[in-house]
Amino acid sequence: SIASTHAKSNGRVLIVGALGFIGHFIAEASLSLGRPTYVLLRPGSAFNNNPAKAAILRALQDKGAIVVNGVINEKESMEKVLKEHEIEIVISAVGGPNILDQLILLEAIKSVGTVKRFLPSEFGHDVDRAEPVEPGLTMYEEKRKVRRMVEESGVPYTNICCNSIASWPYYDNTHPSEVIPPLDKFQIYGDGTVKAYFVAGTDIGRLTMKTVDDVRTINKNIHFRPSCNFYNINELASLWEKKIGKTLPRVTITEDHLLAAAAENCIPESVVASFTHDIFIKGCQINFAIDGSNDVEIAM
Ligand code: NDP
Repeated sequence: SIASTHAKSNGRVLIVGALGFIGHFIAEASLSLGRPTYVLLRPGSAFNNNPAKAAILRALQDKGAIVVNGVINEKESMEKVLKEHEIEIVISAVGGPNILDQLILLEAIKSVGTVKRFLPSEFGHDVDRAEPVEPGLTMYEEKRKVRRMVEESGVPYTNICCNSIASWPYYDNTHPSEVIPPLDKFQIYGDGTVKAYFVAGTDIGRLTMKTVDDVRTINKNIHFRPSCNFYNINELASLWEKKIGKTLPRVTITEDHLLAAAAENCIPESVVASFTHDIFIKGCQINFAIDGSNDVEIAM
């Protein structure tokens, strides 16, 4: 487990994607630790016409977040941001379509030379171990490419493999941010016995921030494996039934059905289907032991 072997530094944190689904949990956690927290906003960002995002931004600013403007795929402007604000820690939580934009951000980090830790946008499975079917595989190949470039750059990094964010794991949604658990029936993947880790967004934020200046997490993959949040989908359904005080019918979604949904190649739904297949049929979160010298487990 990760205790408090922190290097002496109250490094300034820049969060990219702080208005995003995963990023806002990280920004909240950074601010509640009292860290100087900078959030990068791109001009024309969705928050302009999106009341929910505008509200997230206001809440972050009320807690002390400092807004800086920029886009990560413009090297010179990122160098300026990093220098001007003396950023020591860069946490990127850009979404699936923007993974490769991080290569330019990495160039900027490399050239300023003062960033002590970079957390690229991972926040899922160990992309070097998991091998989902397409179209999920393409996203993993992009995340792998970022990993290789970061390793080559010499910039100290930490990859957060937080497994699933706690929410009902629908296979056919576009994004887990706005779903509630089923009220009419459960769709159970395969025989429903393959386990996964469901980690609350607030814990993803809190634990991510614990790693950023811990010397034991330099150049490691950090695996979030809380034993209290380790369930298969049959157990998850039973938990929900207990909460709502009634039982719901269970319908089986077969492996073939998940593969067909992935093969339709609708983006992003088919990406979600390919990950669902990887988690609940192939067991990608649990079919390896964490014993590599590059791996650290947070079991809680
Ligand atoms: P979102 O799409 O919700 O948010 C992405 C954020 O990044 C937005 O705020 C966006 O800004 C910003 N952004 C994107 N491109 C740029 C750029 N070039 N310059 C500056 N800012 C940029 O992302 P998610 O939270 O869904 O995904 C983040 C990571 O988490 C991904 O790696 C994803 O794979 C992973 N994930 C993991 C889940 C899990 O269950 N473990 C679930 C969901 C995601 P703007 O507001 O302007 O659009």
